[in-house]
Amino acid sequence: MMSKSLTIAIAKAKCPRCREGNMFPVSPFSYRKLTVIHSRCAVCDADLIPEPGFYDGAMYISYAFSVALMVTSLVAINVLVAKPELWMYLSTVVGLTILLMPAMLRYSKTLYQYGVGKLKYRGF
Ligand SMILES: [Zn+2]
Repeated sequence: MMSKSLTIAIAKAKCPRCREGNMFPVSPFSYRKLTVIHSRCAVCDADLIPEPGFYDGAMYISYAFSVALMVTSLVAINVLVAKPELWMYLSTVVGLTILLMPAMLRYSKTLYQYGVGKLKYRGF
């Protein structure tokens, strides 16, 4: 039987109501269809976009991800490199941001849907 724990459902970006249907048409780490989100769950028909602009609030979570990534990178470079230079900071932060952008975008929307959305888990 498939596990339906909250942590795994969020990690796999599953629908909050059934924890089976995908919220996004592609993997959370894919660069394709970056802004596309299913309007309805394919499994339980939950409304994943309850109103226009619902996911606008997810940008606050995305911003927190970006700040966390930047602070972590800067601290790591300061700890790992004896005499860090500006280009090291810039290239690391820009590189990691480009690399993790799809995941940060999708997980900010997923966390927003789980936190603010009105869909409650309903096991079938
Ligand atoms: Zn569902």
